Amino acid sequence: MTAPCFLILGAGHAGTAAASAMRAAGFAGRIVMIGDDPHLPYERPPLSKEALRGADGAAPPIYPANFYADRAIELKLGQGATAIDPGAQVVTLADGERIGFDKLLIATGARARRYPLLDALGEAAHVLRSADDARRLRAELVPGRRLLVVGGGVIGLEVAATASALGLSVEVIERAPRLLARGAPEPLADLLAQAHRDHDVVLHCGVELADALRDGGKVRLTCAKGGDFTGDLVVYGIGVTLNDELAAAAGLAMDDGILVDAQGRTSHPAIYAAGDIARQDHAFICGMVRQETWANALHQGGLAGRAMVTGQTGAQEVPWYWTDQFGVNYQVAGRTSARHWITRRGEDGRPRLIFGLEDGVLTGAVGIDAGADMRAARRMIEQGLRPDPAVLADPSVAVRKIGHAAHMV
Ligand SMILES: Cc1cc2nc3c(=O)[nH]c(=O)nc-3n(C[C@H](O)[C@H](O)[C@H](O)COP(=O)(O)OP(=O)(O)OC[C@H]3O[C@@H](n4cnc5c(N)ncnc54)[C@H](O)[C@@H]3O)c2cc1C
Repeated sequence: MTAPCFLILGAGHAGTAAASAMRAAGFAGRIVMIGDDPHLPYERPPLSKEALRGADGAAPPIYPANFYADRAIELKLGQGATAIDPGAQVVTLADGERIGFDKLLIATGARARRYPLLDALGEAAHVLRSADDARRLRAELVPGRRLLVVGGGVIGLEVAATASALGLSVEVIERAPRLLARGAPEPLADLLAQAHRDHDVVLHCGVELADALRDGGKVRLTCAKGGDFTGDLVVYGIGVTLNDELAAAAGLAMDDGILVDAQGRTSHPAIYAAGDIARQDHAFICGMVRQETWANALHQGGLAGRAMVTGQTGAQEVPWYWTDQFGVNYQVAGRTSARHWITRRGEDGRPRLIFGLEDGVLTGAVGIDAGADMRAARRMIEQGLRPDPAVLADPSVAVRKIGHAAHMV
């Protein structure tokens, strides 16, 4: 009898977390992880931060090569899967190899959403999703050049902050009326807008582009309502396109992502999904949600990997993510939909924590260089506490002590 084979499509954060969890849960069969990216699986968040400031744009690996060898995790990198046959339980690779699976995890993530108007600029237009993207972009971030960033989301703003720190002059062009319109609370958007202005990044919100052309060595972007922007290069970050084509062709249930149950299982009993690609009912968000965060990829990937071995359902985490801009760490936890936000200031008078209440319940929090307090805030969100707003705003009460009954309303 041959050993059972668990196949993982996508060698990113969710895939590697799942592989690691499978071994930790005692799976002794074959684990094969297939990635179309040729590099050893690497950390993606540094691509817009440390890696882009480094000499060559290189990102650190998630694990060293021996991690996979020590756990007999077979890596097949540099070629993608091209088809999933859910009936025969076989995956076909680009070179025609066919690998049968007992269970399959789809962790193929997403790619940068393309903007044909800007792609027409050729090499002057960049996106940022992969290590190769970061290397290409790093080479172009030369002090004194003018960078136009299209898209005022997290990635656009991180690139703008990094490029500004590298000595480029930077303008950000956003179509929505405010920055971070998708997935970040307004108070955070306001803080980040101020931080960018303080560093001479010029922000333009509510601007729709109508045309883009190369003019000598320059790029020129024309706005629909008139006016234009001139720069040496463009980086755009306008969201993602899911790498979900194989799942769709295999007939899995999908709706803005592959739909999975609490164990990460898709509509096919032997096929699981995790990470950016998966959409799951979430207790803290109160509905189906697909998260595009490092923490989710790790946690959901780990839970799916363990469930594939044990059949057990793990506990969900309060969603959270971070962004680093101009040397400051910003964290966001829980829901971002609160209408009522309460600010707690630090000794310097600047906002340090911002708490979101919905019907008196703490549902969201933003921390500014406040990692330890954010861990406490996540616990409070998880417990569904109703803290006294005056205590939330009072810096003399330690955040880890707010959970005390005396501080509830
Ligand atoms: C520049 C950047 C900065 C970020 N910064 C932060 C941050 O500060 N904080 C935060 O919380 N999150 C951040 N993120 C988001 C975070 O990195 C993602 O949520 C996370 O990488 C998702 O992991 P994943 O494993 O689901 O998908 P991915 O990391 O996208 O990995 C999926 C892998 O599957 C591969 N693949 C796709 N199709 C196939 C196929 N057919 N066959 C084989 N392989 C395939 C892909 O090429 C990719 O390598 C950032 C993302 C980017 C791009």
